[in-house]
Amino acid sequence: MDFKQLISHCKEYGFIYQSSEIYDGLSAVYDYGPYGVELKNNIKEYWWKSMVNMHENIVGIDAAIFMHPKTWKASGHVDAFNDPLIDNKDSKKRYRADQLIEGYAEKIEIKIRKDVAKARKRFGDAFDENQFRTTNPRIVDRQNKIDAILKRLADAMRDENMGDLKAQIEEYDIACPESGSRNWTEVRQFNLMFSTQLGNIAGEEGKLYLRPETAQGIFVNFLNVQKSTRQKIPFGIAQIGKAFRNEIVARQFIFRMREFEQMEMQFFIRPGVEMKWYEYWKETRLNWHKALGTPESKLRYHDHDNLAHYANAAVDIEFEFPFGFRELEGIHSRTDFDLGSHSELSGKKMTYFDPELNESYVPYVVETSIGCDRMFLAQVSNALQEETVPDADGKESTRIVMKLHPSLAPVKVAVLPLLKNKEELTTAARDVYSTLKKHFNCQYDEKDAIGRRYRRQDAIGTPYCVTIDFDTLEDGTVTIRDRDTLQQKRVAIDALVGEIDVTLPL
Ligand code: ATP
Repeated sequence: MDFKQLISHCKEYGFIYQSSEIYDGLSAVYDYGPYGVELKNNIKEYWWKSMVNMHENIVGIDAAIFMHPKTWKASGHVDAFNDPLIDNKDSKKRYRADQLIEGYAEKIEIKIRKDVAKARKRFGDAFDENQFRTTNPRIVDRQNKIDAILKRLADAMRDENMGDLKAQIEEYDIACPESGSRNWTEVRQFNLMFSTQLGNIAGEEGKLYLRPETAQGIFVNFLNVQKSTRQKIPFGIAQIGKAFRNEIVARQFIFRMREFEQMEMQFFIRPGVEMKWYEYWKETRLNWHKALGTPESKLRYHDHDNLAHYANAAVDIEFEFPFGFRELEGIHSRTDFDLGSHSELSGKKMTYFDPELNESYVPYVVETSIGCDRMFLAQVSNALQEETVPDADGKESTRIVMKLHPSLAPVKVAVLPLLKNKEELTTAARDVYSTLKKHFNCQYDEKDAIGRRYRRQDAIGTPYCVTIDFDTLEDGTVTIRDRDTLQQKRVAIDALVGEIDVTLPL
Protein backbone atom coordinates (compact mmCIF):
# COMPACT_ATOMS: atom_id res chain seq x y z
CA MET A 1 0.00 0.00 0.00
CA ASP A 2 1.49 3.34 -0.97
CA PHE A 3 1.89 6.37 1.25
CA LYS A 4 -1.01 8.31 -0.29
CA GLN A 5 -3.37 5.41 0.31
CA LEU A 6 -2.16 5.19 3.90
CA ILE A 7 -2.92 8.89 4.49
CA SER A 8 -6.42 8.61 3.04
CA HIS A 9 -7.08 5.41 5.00
CA CYS A 10 -6.11 7.23 8.20
CA LYS A 11 -8.62 9.95 7.41
CA GLU A 12 -11.45 7.74 6.18
CA TYR A 13 -11.32 5.45 9.21
CA GLY A 14 -10.99 8.18 11.85
CA PHE A 15 -7.31 7.86 12.76
CA ILE A 16 -5.90 11.22 11.67
CA TYR A 17 -7.41 14.43 10.29
CA GLN A 18 -5.63 17.53 9.14
CA SER A 19 -5.93 20.29 11.76
CA SER A 20 -8.64 22.91 11.05
CA GLU A 21 -9.45 21.21 7.78
CA ILE A 22 -12.55 23.36 7.12
CA TYR A 23 -10.14 26.31 6.79
CA ASP A 24 -7.96 24.32 4.38
CA GLY A 25 -5.83 23.01 7.22
CA LEU A 26 -2.78 24.21 9.07
CA SER A 27 0.39 22.85 7.58
CA ALA A 28 2.17 20.10 9.54
CA VAL A 29 -0.41 20.07 12.34
CA TYR A 30 -2.76 17.10 12.73
CA ASP A 31 -5.65 15.95 14.92
CA TYR A 32 -6.13 12.37 16.05
CA GLY A 33 -9.61 10.92 15.50
CA PRO A 34 -11.52 8.34 17.57
CA TYR A 35 -9.38 5.34 16.56
CA GLY A 36 -6.20 7.40 16.30
CA VAL A 37 -6.41 8.55 19.90
CA GLU A 38 -6.87 4.95 21.09
CA LEU A 39 -3.85 3.72 19.14
CA LYS A 40 -1.77 6.67 20.31
CA ASN A 41 -2.76 6.09 23.95
CA ASN A 42 -1.87 2.42 23.61
CA ILE A 43 1.58 3.33 22.25
CA LYS A 44 2.08 5.67 25.20
CA GLU A 45 0.93 3.00 27.63
CA TYR A 46 3.37 0.46 26.14
CA TRP A 47 6.21 2.95 26.46
CA TRP A 48 5.27 4.06 29.99
CA LYS A 49 4.80 0.55 31.32
CA SER A 50 8.06 -0.72 29.78
CA MET A 51 10.11 2.25 30.87
CA VAL A 52 8.59 3.29 34.21
CA ASN A 53 6.58 0.40 35.67
CA MET A 54 9.04 -2.31 34.62
CA HIS A 55 12.05 -0.48 36.08
CA GLU A 56 12.33 0.00 39.82
CA ASN A 57 14.80 2.80 39.24
CA ILE A 58 12.84 4.86 36.71
CA VAL A 59 10.12 7.30 37.76
CA GLY A 60 7.86 9.55 35.72
CA ILE A 61 7.01 13.24 35.76
CA ASP A 62 4.73 15.58 33.82
CA ALA A 63 6.39 18.99 33.52
CA ALA A 64 4.77 22.12 32.10
CA ILE A 65 5.22 23.12 28.47
CA PHE A 66 6.21 26.65 29.47
CA MET A 67 9.53 26.96 31.24
CA HIS A 68 11.65 29.83 32.47
CA PRO A 69 13.27 31.32 29.35
CA LYS A 70 16.75 30.86 30.86
CA THR A 71 16.19 27.10 30.48
CA TRP A 72 16.60 27.45 26.74
CA LYS A 73 19.67 29.63 27.09
CA ALA A 74 21.32 26.97 29.28
CA SER A 75 20.29 24.08 27.03
CA GLY A 76 21.81 25.78 23.99
CA HIS A 77 18.50 26.04 22.13
CA VAL A 78 18.49 29.85 21.92
CA ASP A 79 21.91 29.91 20.30
CA ALA A 80 22.12 26.62 18.47
CA PHE A 81 18.71 25.12 17.71
CA ASN A 82 18.83 26.32 14.12
CA ASP A 83 18.34 24.96 10.65
CA PRO A 84 19.94 26.57 7.58
CA LEU A 85 17.16 28.25 5.59
CA ILE A 86 17.19 29.18 1.92
CA ASP A 87 14.41 30.79 -0.17
CA ASN A 88 13.87 30.49 -3.86
CA LYS A 89 13.22 34.00 -5.16
CA ASP A 90 11.03 32.88 -8.05
CA SER A 91 8.83 30.21 -6.49
CA LYS A 92 8.94 31.87 -3.03
CA LYS A 93 9.35 28.34 -1.59
CA ARG A 94 11.49 27.76 1.51
CA TYR A 95 13.92 24.91 1.91
CA ARG A 96 16.49 23.60 4.31
CA ALA A 97 19.82 24.07 2.57
CA ASP A 98 21.21 20.86 4.11
CA GLN A 99 18.24 18.87 2.82
CA LEU A 100 18.69 20.21 -0.71
CA ILE A 101 22.30 19.02 -0.64
CA GLU A 102 21.35 15.66 0.88
CA GLY A 103 18.73 15.30 -1.85
CA TYR A 104 21.41 15.85 -4.46
CA ALA A 105 23.54 13.10 -2.91
CA GLU A 106 20.50 10.82 -2.75
CA LYS A 107 19.96 11.19 -6.50
CA ILE A 108 23.45 9.79 -7.08
CA GLU A 109 22.67 6.95 -4.66
CA ILE A 110 19.53 6.17 -6.67
CA LYS A 111 21.69 5.83 -9.80
CA ILE A 112 23.92 3.39 -7.92
CA ARG A 113 20.91 1.37 -6.83
CA LYS A 114 19.69 1.19 -10.43
CA ASP A 115 23.06 -0.13 -11.59
CA VAL A 116 23.07 -2.67 -8.76
CA ALA A 117 19.58 -3.86 -9.70
CA LYS A 118 20.62 -4.22 -13.37
CA ALA A 119 23.72 -6.17 -12.44
CA ARG A 120 21.74 -8.44 -10.14
CA LYS A 121 19.45 -9.30 -13.04
CA ARG A 122 22.40 -10.01 -15.31
CA PHE A 123 24.42 -12.16 -12.90
CA GLY A 124 21.52 -13.89 -11.16
CA ASP A 125 22.30 -16.01 -8.09
CA ALA A 126 26.06 -15.54 -8.41
CA PHE A 127 25.71 -11.80 -7.79
CA ASP A 128 27.66 -10.40 -4.87
CA GLU A 129 26.40 -6.87 -4.17
CA ASN A 130 29.21 -5.94 -1.85
CA GLN A 131 31.86 -7.00 -4.34
CA PHE A 132 30.08 -5.14 -7.14
CA ARG A 133 29.82 -1.95 -5.10
CA THR A 134 33.48 -2.01 -4.15
CA THR A 135 34.98 -2.98 -7.51
CA ASN A 136 32.82 -1.55 -10.30
CA PRO A 137 34.69 1.65 -11.30
CA ARG A 138 31.57 3.67 -12.10
CA ILE A 139 29.94 2.79 -8.77
CA VAL A 140 33.13 3.42 -6.81
CA ASP A 141 33.43 6.79 -8.49
CA ARG A 142 29.85 7.71 -7.64
CA GLN A 143 30.19 6.50 -4.05
CA ASN A 144 33.33 8.63 -3.60
CA LYS A 145 31.38 11.59 -4.91
CA ILE A 146 28.57 11.00 -2.39
CA ASP A 147 31.07 10.62 0.47
CA ALA A 148 32.78 13.89 -0.49
CA ILE A 149 29.45 15.75 -0.70
CA LEU A 150 28.29 14.49 2.69
CA LYS A 151 31.65 15.18 4.32
CA ARG A 152 31.69 18.75 3.04
CA LEU A 153 28.07 19.19 4.18
CA ALA A 154 28.86 17.86 7.67
CA ASP A 155 31.86 20.20 7.95
CA ALA A 156 29.82 23.23 6.88
CA MET A 157 27.05 22.33 9.34
CA ARG A 158 29.53 21.85 12.17
CA ASP A 159 31.25 25.17 11.43
CA GLU A 160 27.93 26.92 10.76
CA ASN A 161 29.41 27.99 7.45
CA MET A 162 26.31 29.34 5.68
CA GLY A 163 28.44 30.74 2.84
CA ASP A 164 29.75 27.29 1.98
CA LEU A 165 26.25 25.77 2.03
CA LYS A 166 25.21 28.36 -0.56
CA ALA A 167 28.40 27.67 -2.55
CA GLN A 168 27.59 23.94 -2.58
CA ILE A 169 24.06 24.56 -3.84
CA GLU A 170 25.50 26.67 -6.66
CA GLU A 171 28.32 24.26 -7.51
CA TYR A 172 25.97 21.27 -7.72
CA ASP A 173 23.60 23.39 -9.78
CA ILE A 174 20.67 22.48 -7.51
CA ALA A 175 17.31 23.80 -8.72
CA CYS A 176 14.11 24.47 -6.79
CA PRO A 177 12.21 21.15 -6.87
CA GLU A 178 8.93 23.06 -7.40
CA SER A 179 9.87 25.48 -10.16
CA GLY A 180 13.26 24.43 -11.52
CA SER A 181 14.57 27.93 -10.76
CA ARG A 182 18.15 28.47 -9.52
CA ASN A 183 17.49 31.97 -8.25
CA TRP A 184 18.37 31.50 -4.56
CA THR A 185 18.70 33.86 -1.59
CA GLU A 186 21.67 33.60 0.79
CA VAL A 187 21.52 30.80 3.38
CA ARG A 188 20.72 31.95 6.91
CA GLN A 189 20.18 30.34 10.29
CA PHE A 190 16.57 29.92 11.39
CA ASN A 191 15.72 29.17 15.03
CA LEU A 192 13.14 26.41 15.35
CA MET A 193 11.62 27.49 18.66
CA PHE A 194 8.14 29.02 18.72
CA SER A 195 7.98 32.04 20.98
CA THR A 196 5.11 33.72 22.75
CA GLN A 197 4.66 36.52 25.25
CA LEU A 198 3.71 36.59 28.94
CA GLY A 199 0.74 38.89 29.55
CA ASN A 200 2.13 40.88 32.44
CA ILE A 201 5.63 41.71 31.19
CA ALA A 202 6.33 43.68 28.00
CA GLY A 203 9.29 43.16 25.63
CA GLU A 204 12.16 40.65 25.67
CA GLU A 205 11.78 40.06 29.42
CA GLY A 206 8.37 38.48 28.94
CA LYS A 207 9.38 36.31 26.00
CA LEU A 208 8.55 32.63 26.48
CA TYR A 209 9.15 29.60 24.30
CA LEU A 210 7.02 26.56 23.68
CA ARG A 211 9.36 23.72 24.67
CA PRO A 212 11.10 22.14 21.65
CA GLU A 213 11.86 18.96 23.66
CA THR A 214 10.57 17.48 26.89
CA ALA A 215 14.06 16.65 28.22
CA GLN A 216 14.70 20.02 29.85
CA GLY A 217 11.65 19.62 32.14
CA ILE A 218 13.42 16.54 33.48
CA PHE A 219 16.83 18.19 33.92
CA VAL A 220 15.53 21.19 35.86
CA ASN A 221 13.61 18.81 38.17
CA PHE A 222 16.54 16.46 38.72
CA LEU A 223 17.13 17.54 42.34
CA ASN A 224 13.41 17.64 43.21
CA VAL A 225 12.81 14.13 41.94
CA GLN A 226 15.99 12.66 43.39
CA LYS A 227 15.20 14.07 46.82
CA SER A 228 11.52 13.20 46.91
CA THR A 229 11.99 9.64 45.66
CA ARG A 230 15.37 8.99 47.35
CA GLN A 231 16.55 7.29 44.17
CA LYS A 232 20.21 6.30 44.01
CA ILE A 233 22.28 6.61 40.88
CA PRO A 234 21.84 4.98 38.40
CA PHE A 235 18.22 6.05 38.00
CA GLY A 236 16.00 7.52 35.34
CA ILE A 237 13.23 10.08 34.92
CA ALA A 238 10.69 9.60 32.15
CA GLN A 239 8.15 11.90 30.60
CA ILE A 240 5.59 11.96 27.80
CA GLY A 241 4.52 15.33 26.50
CA LYS A 242 4.04 17.82 23.71
CA ALA A 243 6.96 19.53 21.99
CA PHE A 244 6.90 22.25 19.35
CA ARG A 245 9.27 22.99 16.49
CA ASN A 246 8.87 25.53 13.75
CA GLU A 247 10.07 23.10 11.07
CA ILE A 248 10.98 24.83 7.81
CA VAL A 249 9.97 21.99 5.56
CA ALA A 250 7.24 19.88 7.05
CA ARG A 251 6.14 17.23 4.59
CA GLN A 252 5.52 13.54 5.01
CA PHE A 253 2.35 13.63 7.06
CA ILE A 254 2.87 13.04 10.81
CA PHE A 255 6.57 12.23 10.33
CA ARG A 256 7.57 15.86 10.76
CA MET A 257 5.06 18.03 12.59
CA ARG A 258 5.17 21.46 14.15
CA GLU A 259 3.35 20.21 17.26
CA PHE A 260 4.13 16.65 18.29
CA GLU A 261 4.56 14.40 21.26
CA GLN A 262 7.77 12.99 22.68
CA MET A 263 8.45 10.08 25.01
CA GLU A 264 11.79 10.75 26.66
CA MET A 265 13.80 9.21 29.46
CA GLN A 266 16.98 10.61 30.98
CA PHE A 267 19.10 8.07 32.80
CA PHE A 268 21.45 9.60 35.39
CA ILE A 269 24.74 7.78 35.92
CA ARG A 270 28.27 8.10 37.28
CA PRO A 271 30.69 9.93 34.99
CA GLY A 272 32.86 7.47 33.08
CA VAL A 273 30.34 4.63 32.78
CA GLU A 274 28.30 6.27 30.03
CA MET A 275 29.35 3.94 27.22
CA LYS A 276 28.15 0.90 29.15
CA TRP A 277 24.70 2.46 29.67
CA TYR A 278 24.61 3.80 26.14
CA GLU A 279 25.06 0.26 24.82
CA TYR A 280 22.48 -1.03 27.29
CA TRP A 281 19.79 1.44 26.22
CA LYS A 282 20.63 1.04 22.56
CA GLU A 283 19.89 -2.66 22.78
CA THR A 284 16.94 -2.36 25.18
CA ARG A 285 15.18 0.16 22.97
CA LEU A 286 15.66 -1.88 19.80
CA ASN A 287 14.20 -4.90 21.63
CA TRP A 288 11.19 -2.77 22.63
CA HIS A 289 10.43 -2.25 18.94
CA LYS A 290 11.06 -5.87 18.01
CA ALA A 291 8.76 -7.15 20.79
CA LEU A 292 5.81 -5.68 18.90
CA GLY A 293 6.58 -7.93 15.97
CA THR A 294 8.11 -5.17 13.84
CA PRO A 295 10.36 -7.07 11.40
CA GLU A 296 14.09 -6.72 12.02
CA SER A 297 14.59 -5.88 8.35
CA LYS A 298 12.64 -2.65 8.88
CA LEU A 299 14.76 -1.49 11.81
CA ARG A 300 18.40 -0.47 11.85
CA TYR A 301 20.89 1.62 13.80
CA HIS A 302 22.42 4.71 12.33
CA ASP A 303 25.36 6.27 14.17
CA HIS A 304 25.55 10.06 14.12
CA ASP A 305 28.62 11.38 12.33
CA ASN A 306 27.78 14.89 13.36
CA LEU A 307 27.35 15.03 17.13
CA ALA A 308 25.12 17.68 18.71
CA HIS A 309 26.76 20.16 21.07
CA TYR A 310 25.69 18.16 24.13
CA ALA A 311 26.57 14.62 23.06
CA ASN A 312 29.63 12.34 23.10
CA ALA A 313 27.85 9.44 21.38
CA ALA A 314 24.53 9.25 19.55
CA VAL A 315 22.66 6.69 17.52
CA ASP A 316 19.30 6.67 15.79
CA ILE A 317 17.01 3.69 15.56
CA GLU A 318 15.75 4.05 12.02
CA PHE A 319 12.58 2.52 10.65
CA GLU A 320 11.82 1.86 7.01
CA PHE A 321 8.94 4.28 6.44
CA PRO A 322 7.14 4.24 3.05
CA PHE A 323 9.61 6.94 1.94
CA GLY A 324 12.74 5.11 3.14
CA PHE A 325 14.76 4.56 6.33
CA ARG A 326 14.40 7.54 8.67
CA GLU A 327 14.97 8.33 12.34
CA LEU A 328 12.34 6.94 14.67
CA GLU A 329 14.17 7.19 17.98
CA GLY A 330 17.42 8.66 19.26
CA ILE A 331 19.72 7.37 22.00
CA HIS A 332 22.14 10.05 23.13
CA SER A 333 24.95 10.12 25.61
CA ARG A 334 24.54 13.72 26.79
CA THR A 335 27.45 13.81 29.30
CA ASP A 336 26.98 16.35 32.13
CA PHE A 337 26.25 19.09 29.62
CA ASP A 338 22.67 19.91 30.64
CA LEU A 339 22.98 19.62 34.43
CA GLY A 340 26.32 21.46 34.31
CA SER A 341 24.95 24.25 32.23
CA HIS A 342 21.80 24.66 34.38
CA SER A 343 24.03 24.76 37.48
CA GLU A 344 26.07 27.52 35.94
CA LEU A 345 23.18 29.70 34.80
CA SER A 346 20.92 29.21 37.82
CA GLY A 347 23.65 29.24 40.44
CA LYS A 348 22.08 26.08 41.99
CA LYS A 349 24.40 23.11 42.39
CA MET A 350 23.00 20.18 40.40
CA THR A 351 25.19 17.57 42.04
CA TYR A 352 24.59 14.16 43.55
CA PHE A 353 26.31 12.79 46.62
CA ASP A 354 27.30 9.21 45.90
CA PRO A 355 27.35 7.35 49.23
CA GLU A 356 29.37 4.46 47.79
CA LEU A 357 32.13 6.69 46.46
CA ASN A 358 31.71 9.18 49.29
CA GLU A 359 31.91 12.06 46.80
CA SER A 360 29.69 14.52 44.95
CA TYR A 361 29.55 14.89 41.19
CA VAL A 362 27.37 16.19 38.38
CA PRO A 363 25.80 13.01 36.96
CA TYR A 364 26.18 12.02 33.34
CA VAL A 365 23.08 11.28 31.29
CA VAL A 366 22.10 8.75 28.64
CA GLU A 367 18.77 9.62 27.07
CA THR A 368 16.28 7.73 24.97
CA SER A 369 13.96 9.92 22.92
CA ILE A 370 11.17 8.80 20.62
CA GLY A 371 8.41 10.69 18.86
CA CYS A 372 5.01 9.21 19.68
CA ASP A 373 3.61 10.34 16.33
CA ARG A 374 6.52 8.81 14.42
CA MET A 375 5.97 5.58 16.30
CA PHE A 376 2.31 5.78 15.29
CA LEU A 377 3.28 6.21 11.65
CA ALA A 378 5.79 3.38 11.86
CA GLN A 379 3.19 1.01 13.33
CA VAL A 380 0.46 1.94 10.86
CA SER A 381 2.75 1.74 7.83
CA ASN A 382 4.03 -1.65 8.96
CA ALA A 383 0.56 -2.98 9.74
CA LEU A 384 -1.60 -1.69 6.91
CA GLN A 385 -1.83 -4.24 4.11
CA GLU A 386 -3.97 -5.18 1.17
CA GLU A 387 -4.28 -8.94 0.76
CA THR A 388 -6.26 -11.58 -1.04
CA VAL A 389 -8.25 -13.92 1.17
CA PRO A 390 -10.95 -16.53 0.64
CA ASP A 391 -14.37 -15.14 1.47
CA ALA A 392 -17.41 -16.90 2.94
CA ASP A 393 -18.43 -18.73 -0.25
CA GLY A 394 -14.87 -19.85 -0.98
CA LYS A 395 -14.13 -17.24 -3.68
CA GLU A 396 -11.14 -14.93 -3.50
CA SER A 397 -11.56 -11.33 -2.42
CA THR A 398 -9.23 -8.55 -1.38
CA ARG A 399 -9.28 -6.96 2.02
CA ILE A 400 -7.51 -4.06 3.66
CA VAL A 401 -6.28 -5.08 7.06
CA MET A 402 -4.27 -3.35 9.76
CA LYS A 403 -2.21 -6.06 11.41
CA LEU A 404 -1.33 -4.10 14.53
CA HIS A 405 -0.02 -5.91 17.58
CA PRO A 406 -3.25 -6.73 19.49
CA SER A 407 -2.12 -4.67 22.49
CA LEU A 408 -1.95 -1.55 20.31
CA ALA A 409 -5.20 -2.09 18.37
CA PRO A 410 -7.74 0.69 19.02
CA VAL A 411 -10.65 -1.74 19.37
CA LYS A 412 -9.85 -5.15 20.84
CA VAL A 413 -13.12 -6.96 20.22
CA ALA A 414 -16.12 -6.36 17.99
CA VAL A 415 -19.37 -7.97 19.04
CA LEU A 416 -21.61 -8.79 16.09
CA PRO A 417 -25.09 -10.32 16.04
CA LEU A 418 -25.43 -12.41 12.90
CA LEU A 419 -28.63 -10.61 11.91
CA LYS A 420 -29.89 -7.19 12.84
CA ASN A 421 -33.61 -7.78 12.83
CA LYS A 422 -33.71 -10.83 15.11
CA GLU A 423 -34.25 -9.48 18.56
CA GLU A 424 -33.09 -12.67 20.32
CA LEU A 425 -29.71 -12.29 18.59
CA THR A 426 -29.27 -8.58 19.24
CA THR A 427 -30.26 -8.97 22.90
CA ALA A 428 -27.80 -11.82 23.39
CA ALA A 429 -25.10 -9.82 21.59
CA ARG A 430 -25.72 -6.75 23.75
CA ASP A 431 -25.29 -8.94 26.84
CA VAL A 432 -21.94 -10.23 25.58
CA TYR A 433 -20.90 -6.67 24.77
CA SER A 434 -21.81 -5.47 28.29
CA THR A 435 -19.63 -8.16 29.82
CA LEU A 436 -16.64 -7.68 27.51
CA LYS A 437 -16.55 -3.89 27.64
CA LYS A 438 -15.52 -4.04 31.30
CA HIS A 439 -12.34 -5.82 30.22
CA PHE A 440 -11.51 -4.45 26.77
CA ASN A 441 -12.26 -1.56 24.46
CA CYS A 442 -15.14 -3.13 22.51
CA GLN A 443 -17.48 -2.21 19.73
CA TYR A 444 -21.02 -3.39 19.07
CA ASP A 445 -21.98 -3.43 15.39
CA GLU A 446 -25.16 -4.76 13.80
CA LYS A 447 -25.32 -2.75 10.57
CA ASP A 448 -24.77 -4.44 7.15
CA ALA A 449 -24.00 -8.02 6.22
CA ILE A 450 -21.58 -9.88 8.49
CA GLY A 451 -18.84 -9.97 5.83
CA ARG A 452 -18.85 -6.20 5.51
CA ARG A 453 -18.70 -5.79 9.26
CA TYR A 454 -15.63 -8.07 9.40
CA ARG A 455 -13.97 -5.93 6.71
CA ARG A 456 -14.66 -2.74 8.68
CA GLN A 457 -13.02 -4.25 11.76
CA ASP A 458 -10.05 -5.49 9.67
CA ALA A 459 -9.55 -1.96 8.37
CA ILE A 460 -9.16 -0.54 11.89
CA GLY A 461 -7.08 -3.47 13.12
CA THR A 462 -9.52 -5.16 15.54
CA PRO A 463 -7.85 -8.47 16.46
CA TYR A 464 -11.04 -10.34 17.49
CA CYS A 465 -14.61 -10.48 16.20
CA VAL A 466 -17.21 -12.30 18.27
CA THR A 467 -20.34 -13.38 16.40
CA ILE A 468 -23.61 -14.29 18.04
CA ASP A 469 -25.72 -16.70 15.97
CA PHE A 470 -28.65 -19.10 16.47
CA ASP A 471 -26.43 -21.70 18.15
CA THR A 472 -25.63 -19.12 20.80
CA LEU A 473 -29.27 -19.13 21.82
CA GLU A 474 -29.21 -22.92 22.11
CA ASP A 475 -25.90 -23.62 23.83
CA GLY A 476 -24.39 -20.34 25.02
CA THR A 477 -21.42 -20.46 22.65
CA VAL A 478 -20.22 -17.85 20.13
CA THR A 479 -17.69 -17.82 17.30
CA ILE A 480 -14.48 -15.89 17.74
CA ARG A 481 -12.62 -14.87 14.59
CA ASP A 482 -8.92 -14.11 14.45
CA ARG A 483 -8.08 -11.07 12.30
CA ASP A 484 -4.84 -12.45 10.86
CA THR A 485 -5.54 -16.15 10.35
CA LEU A 486 -9.30 -15.70 9.70
CA GLN A 487 -9.77 -18.87 11.75
CA GLN A 488 -13.06 -19.06 13.62
CA LYS A 489 -13.70 -21.23 16.61
CA ARG A 490 -16.65 -21.76 18.91
CA VAL A 491 -16.22 -20.95 22.55
CA ALA A 492 -18.53 -20.66 25.51
CA ILE A 493 -19.47 -17.09 26.44
CA ASP A 494 -18.11 -17.75 29.94
CA ALA A 495 -14.70 -18.58 28.45
CA LEU A 496 -14.51 -15.56 26.11
CA VAL A 497 -12.44 -13.23 28.30
CA GLY A 498 -9.72 -15.86 28.58
CA GLU A 499 -9.61 -16.32 24.78
CA ILE A 500 -8.80 -12.69 24.12
CA ASP A 501 -5.11 -12.02 24.43
CA VAL A 502 -4.23 -8.34 24.10
CA THR A 503 -1.43 -8.13 26.68
CA LEU A 504 1.49 -5.80 26.12
CA PRO A 505 4.79 -7.52 25.21
CA LEU A 506 6.56 -6.36 28.39
P1 ATP B 1 15.04 15.02 12.78
O1 ATP B 1 16.50 14.86 12.45
O2 ATP B 1 14.15 14.03 12.08
O3 ATP B 1 14.55 16.43 12.72
P2 ATP B 1 15.88 15.22 15.46
O4 ATP B 1 17.20 14.51 15.40
O5 ATP B 1 15.85 16.69 15.50
O6 ATP B 1 14.91 14.66 14.31
P3 ATP B 1 15.45 14.72 18.22
O7 ATP B 1 15.68 16.12 18.62
O8 ATP B 1 16.47 13.70 18.56
O9 ATP B 1 15.07 14.65 16.67
O10 ATP B 1 14.02 14.28 18.78
C1 ATP B 1 13.75 12.98 19.28
C2 ATP B 1 12.61 12.32 18.56
O11 ATP B 1 11.48 13.19 18.46
C3 ATP B 1 12.92 11.95 17.11
O12 ATP B 1 13.57 10.71 17.05
C4 ATP B 1 11.54 11.90 16.49
O13 ATP B 1 10.94 10.64 16.71
C5 ATP B 1 10.77 12.95 17.26
N1 ATP B 1 10.65 14.19 16.48
C6 ATP B 1 11.56 15.18 16.35
N2 ATP B 1 11.10 16.18 15.58
C7 ATP B 1 9.84 15.81 15.21
C8 ATP B 1 8.82 16.43 14.43
N3 ATP B 1 8.99 17.63 13.89
N4 ATP B 1 7.64 15.77 14.26
C9 ATP B 1 7.45 14.56 14.83
N5 ATP B 1 8.37 13.94 15.58
C10 ATP B 1 9.55 14.55 15.79
